Amino acid sequence: MEKLLEILPFKLWLILLGLLIFRYVLVAGIPYFWLYVIGRNKYTAIKIQRSYPGSIQVFNEVKYSLLTLFIYSSGIWLFIFWLQNGYTKNYSEINEFGIPYLILSVLLMIVIHDAYSYWIHRLMHHKYLFKYTHLLHHKFKNPSPWCAFAFHPFESILTLGIIPLIMFLIPWHNIALMIFITIIILYDTFIHLGFNLKRLKIFKWQNTPKDHDVHHRNSKYNFGLYFTFWDRLMGTYLNNQKS
Ligand SMILES: [Zn+2]
Ligand SMILES: [Zn+2]
Repeated sequence: MEKLLEILPFKLWLILLGLLIFRYVLVAGIPYFWLYVIGRNKYTAIKIQRSYPGSIQVFNEVKYSLLTLFIYSSGIWLFIFWLQNGYTKNYSEINEFGIPYLILSVLLMIVIHDAYSYWIHRLMHHKYLFKYTHLLHHKFKNPSPWCAFAFHPFESILTLGIIPLIMFLIPWHNIALMIFITIIILYDTFIHLGFNLKRLKIFKWQNTPKDHDVHHRNSKYNFGLYFTFWDRLMGTYLNNQKS
């Protein structure tokens, strides 16, 4: 532990925590003020659920999301330790695998994360786990963008598991991992928008705010994160046309 403290100054952890909070506030705050505050009367036709979340709900969404970001940033102590000891499949020169692989690795991370996310989500819906963990996220039946990381601490640790999985599974460059983390923040916020933004649905098997809203109201369906692939394959997909 002493060695770890030498390698990783407290400052680095604080910087990461600050960066994650800054990104979360930016990525959730912009659509929130655009859709829920300034455009509240303008965009009611595309609001998935008629009602708007109250300030107590938003406060709780932010509170639990900040706790999650605290846990996420704390993971860096372990990740850097693995990295500095050469345990992971990190490579430092982009030329080693080339630009095409750099792009492919980000796509691979997304596909791996989608599978990981679907199955741990199914696991957390198991009757023995649900009420102790994932129930917290489901208390927000009408989610707002602030809900993106409103998890029970156990769920935060489980969801963070994707980072070591990637680190040990595929060759990865720091830039690719940073792009991937940015995509996680963007996409998790996107599916919690609470608005049906049809223009942002690019392909059929893409998971959307409308699909994830179904999950917040009926927890038997739509466990996916980026795609509806696993839901369709496992028979847990519900396309709620009325929404
Ligand atoms: Zn959710
Ligand atoms: Zn769930």
